Amino acid sequence: MAGTGQRVMVVKSGGPSAVPEWREHFRVLLPDTELRCWTEPGNLADIGYALVWEPDEGRLAAMPNLRLILSSAVGVEHILADRMLPRHLPILRTVPGEAADQMAEYVAWAVLHLHRGIPLLQEQQARGHWQFHDPPLASARRVGILGLGSMGARCARMLAGIGFRVSGWSRGRKAIADVACHAGQGELPRFLADLDIVVCLLPATPETRGILGTENLARLPRGACLVSAGRGQQVPERDLLAALDAGQLSRAVLDVFENEPLPAESPLWRDPRIIVTPHVASLPSREARARFIADAIRRFEQGEVLPTLYDPALGY
Ligand code: NDP
Repeated sequence: MAGTGQRVMVVKSGGPSAVPEWREHFRVLLPDTELRCWTEPGNLADIGYALVWEPDEGRLAAMPNLRLILSSAVGVEHILADRMLPRHLPILRTVPGEAADQMAEYVAWAVLHLHRGIPLLQEQQARGHWQFHDPPLASARRVGILGLGSMGARCARMLAGIGFRVSGWSRGRKAIADVACHAGQGELPRFLADLDIVVCLLPATPETRGILGTENLARLPRGACLVSAGRGQQVPERDLLAALDAGQLSRAVLDVFENEPLPAESPLWRDPRIIVTPHVASLPSREARARFIADAIRRFEQGEVLPTLYDPALGY
């Protein structure tokens, strides 16, 4: 039974071994909170908050006094997959500033890696072959970002700061200094046609599924490069490999995949044109996420509108 006036939060994120760390962070950040492990939730009627990654189907629906669902990640599709999800409840996307900074570091690394032709230099090193190349300056390289939300906008600013010619595409039109902003389906073909490197940072929704399939990859200039760090379902892997084989794409850096973990038999692992990273582009610490969540819960209880709530009308 929960103590009087005490809020109860159940946690499924990082497995039972992560619970002591979560408990310690919330003990400091939100002291009047009792934190329970998902596998030992006690009386379900006590639970007001659920901090989750991939909750088991039907478990959230069994908590009659749940007030707020807290995604332990930026995305929420791992919660929406629960067919018994109580759809009336708000879902918080956990987006600490650290998450966007980490994503921007990853994307800057990937773009610089491709821009400076490092894969070619690595191939030369493997052959003991000494040869110069003349990469253009960043100011001559066109980098476009699909998705200009908390992740994409931070990446756009960092890339523009390095000196790249940066453009971006989102649903509604954005205004970001030194970034050419495009909006809506109608402007997608023109946006794609003017890129050397395309970076995908869209959320997983029915509309973004397969967005970088054969049709849109064909709109890129021949030999363009891809950085994919939104969600794997946005880049069908068969279409990606076909575009690489045809020379339509020259290289790809992939952090997200249609099936994760990437199966051992996937050809992507061993393709020299591809760099595979295991969904590590942005991994904010538990402390940073707990800080963000504690602040959000306080504001939620004061009746404030939380800016990073999942919007069912938009699907992200
Ligand atoms: P946001 O919700 O802040 O931003 C999403 C962006 O995508 C917005 O600019 C939105 O447009 C745009 N968008 C969504 N749907 C469409 C559409 N149909 N057409 C055009 N634009 C669209 O999300 P974040 O930036 O915080 O995160 C983006 C995604 O990054 C996450 O959903 C997650 O999948 C992924 N991610 C990956 C990580 C990794 O480690 N690889 C870590 C963290 C996140 P508008 O601005 O007009 O709404």
